[in-house]
Order: sequence, then C-alpha cells, then structure tokens
Amino acid sequence: MSIFIPILILMCLESSPQDAYRNQRIQMVSKQIIARGINDRKILEAFREVPRHKFVLPEYVRFAYNDSPLPIEEGQTISQPFIVAFMTDALNLKQSDRILEVGTGSGYQAAILAQICDSVFTIEIFESLSQKAKSVFEELGYDNIYCKTGDGYEGWPEKSPFDAIIVTCAPTHIPKPLKEQLAEGGRLIIPVGEGQVQHLVLLQKKNGKIKQKNILPVRFVPMVDDDLKKY
Ligand code: SAH
Repeated sequence: MSIFIPILILMCLESSPQDAYRNQRIQMVSKQIIARGINDRKILEAFREVPRHKFVLPEYVRFAYNDSPLPIEEGQTISQPFIVAFMTDALNLKQSDRILEVGTGSGYQAAILAQICDSVFTIEIFESLSQKAKSVFEELGYDNIYCKTGDGYEGWPEKSPFDAIIVTCAPTHIPKPLKEQLAEGGRLIIPVGEGQVQHLVLLQKKNGKIKQKNILPVRFVPMVDDDLKKY
C-alpha cells in the first residue's frame, strides 16, 4: 500500500509531451499576446488550441512557441505569433465571416482563422507549401480551410466577396482585385512597401467606398508573381 500510493501520485504528476506544448501555448498567450494588449477571448482561445509546433520545420519544433518568426521551406517564414494575433484582431472577425488569406505559407495563420470563422480560403504561390499546409490541416481535422495554389494578387474571384482579407506577404502597392473582392463592410489587412519600409495597412469598405489607414511598421516577405518577380 505504502509503495503504491507514491507511484500513483508520480504517474499523475508526469505530464505528456502534448501537455508540455499546451503549457507553452498558455505561456505564449499570456506573455506575448495578452501582455501586448490583445484581449479578444475567441482569439486567445484559438492561440491556446492551435499546435504551432505542427507548422514549423522539425529542427525548429523546440522554438515553436518563441516570440519570433521562424524559417519554413522555399525561403519563406512563419510569422511571429504576436503579429498573427495583431492582424487577426484588426480584422474584427465574427464567426459567419468568409475570409481570404493570401500567403498560406506554413498554414498557421489559416488554422488560427479557422478556429474563429466558418470558412477560410487561402492561396499560396508555392505548390510545395500549399500541399504541405493542406496535409497538416487534414492531420489536425480542419474541414473549413480551402486551399489553392496560385497568385494571390488576383484574389479568388469565384469565391468572393469576402468579409475579411488578410495578406501575409508584402506587395509594393495594394492589389486592385483584392479591393474589388471585399464585401460591403469588409476589412482588408495588408503589409505594403519594399524592404525595410513596409507598413501594415487596414482598409474598410463602407457604402462602396474604401477608407484606409496605416497602423504599424512591419517586415514581411515580398509578394511575388509566378516568375518570383516582386509586385
Ligand atoms: N501566413 C503564413 C506566412 C507565410 S509568409 C504563415 O502563417 O505561415 C508569406 C507567404 O506568402 C509565403 O509562403 C510566400 O510564398 C507567399 N506568397 C508570396 N507571394 C505570393 C503570391 N503572389 N500569392 C500567394 N502567396 C504568395
């Protein structure tokens, strides 16, 4: 009896690797996201749920919950968790919103959006990244993320209009097709500019007119066309 009780206690105390990741996510949310002023409960819950370590390269798994972007294949990056949260928050999402993402990359941002909204459409220019993200979505059981390989500059006209559009690569100007594919009341968040001088810009369509404001200096990978030329 006296032997069994301590063993039982030890078994209960031992945490699984999944619990360890969950603890890291809880820490990430409090230190990187809430501490910087984001309080939307749906967003915080999404960050506690989505296993970011599934979206990074194997050699970076131990850094998955760090306060930084990380390299992914094709010379691209998975964004810093805070910037993913900041852009998501700026879109002021509700569950019924249809969202377009340009720049699937690892798929992490799309998974966060899919926790909050009913349908997420995401476009990636590199076939390999799009395929890999798709297989992670399948592994994690997401059935509300629709992937397409192609040039997101053109948007996804067949699936438009969108209540929200998020662009995670930076063109030098705001693509006209994306503005056209915004629904009435829709919001578009996009980094615009070249090299060191990019700005995160938020646009909103009201009564058919678009208003825009610069909200933050940022640094994203460039938006490119099929020949990898910068837009
Ligand atoms: N949202 C991603 C961030 C990826 S970085 C994540 O959560 O991981 C931006 C991505 O935009 C890169 O994968 C890059 O290949 C892609 N990209 C660049 N130009 C593009 C274009 N014209 N159309 C679609 N995707 C593009």
